[in-house]
Amino acid sequence: MIAIIKQGVNDNQIENLINWLESQNLSVHLSKGEYTTILGLVGDTSKIDIELLENLEIVEKVKRISEPFKSANRKFHPNDSIIDVSGVKIGGGNFAIIAGPCSVESEEQIIEIAKSVKNSGATLLRGGAFKPRTSPYDFQGLQADGLELLKLAKKETGMPIVTEIMNANHLPLFDDVDLIQVGARNMQNFELLKELGKTKKPVLLKRGLANTMKECLMSAEYIMAGGNENIILCERGIRTFETYTRNTLDLAAVPMLKELSHLPIIVDPSHACGVSRLVKPMALAATASGADGLMIEVHNDPRNALCDGAQSLTPEQFDDVASKVKTLMEVL
Ligand code: PEP
Ligand code: MN
Repeated sequence: MIAIIKQGVNDNQIENLINWLESQNLSVHLSKGEYTTILGLVGDTSKIDIELLENLEIVEKVKRISEPFKSANRKFHPNDSIIDVSGVKIGGGNFAIIAGPCSVESEEQIIEIAKSVKNSGATLLRGGAFKPRTSPYDFQGLQADGLELLKLAKKETGMPIVTEIMNANHLPLFDDVDLIQVGARNMQNFELLKELGKTKKPVLLKRGLANTMKECLMSAEYIMAGGNENIILCERGIRTFETYTRNTLDLAAVPMLKELSHLPIIVDPSHACGVSRLVKPMALAATASGADGLMIEVHNDPRNALCDGAQSLTPEQFDDVASKVKTLMEVL
């Protein structure tokens, strides 16, 4: 349920109302925009007398929200959320490009790629350390050592780092990670989401392979319910009957999720397509669709990459994509 507050009401009056609502066992989310102040009421609102609330002098309107996601809902929070990842802002008109290899493979590899993607305009460095591989016989990532190499690359370039967590027990290892990624395969690992909710770390939440937009928002809700509102959504393609591409990039999810939620949403055309030559057209299409950023896999030697070489761009190809995206952004 949301209560829209009349214009010109002072903070004291709002605070009194919040105190009363909290005494009714509701938690209240206050959203102050330039023109509108909205109280989002989370909890069992069935006992609240809507008419009584609506008749209060300071209340303009009360609405029940039918969607099960509350904190992530744009109705609660009409302005776009802007997530600050160690100084790099994402959302609300701030566009970010995350680039780097699928997996961190060595010091030379990650540092070389970090420097080149930074020169091309990437604002955050990605690199998997703990890799969710379909086969247990495939390279599982350098794990804790991979995190150390990412930190080295951050020191060398100043770029904030993004890497995937698969196990909540690993959280202490992620202290210096700027943006923690929850991969598609863990989007509904609710225990992991709850643990991330207890932190203040920005989280990049990827949509699951076979999950609806609503399920993705409910997963964001899990993290937000714990008190962590620093979430960026990521559309990375969903599984369909199509086989020429690794997944099917659901670009309609970008404007739809933006309508439903105030959270920023970025697009990962690399995992969506699985084919490097499709990354550029889909990166441009994603930018035009209104995405708040892109995540693109880049490798200095894609043919010998330990993971996802077929979808990885060379640094030169990435440079071309980044410059075309920049030009498109100017037109938009
Ligand atoms: C990744 O970004 O490295 C990854 C594994 O992505 P996804 O979870 O989208 O498959
Ligand atoms: Mn990958």
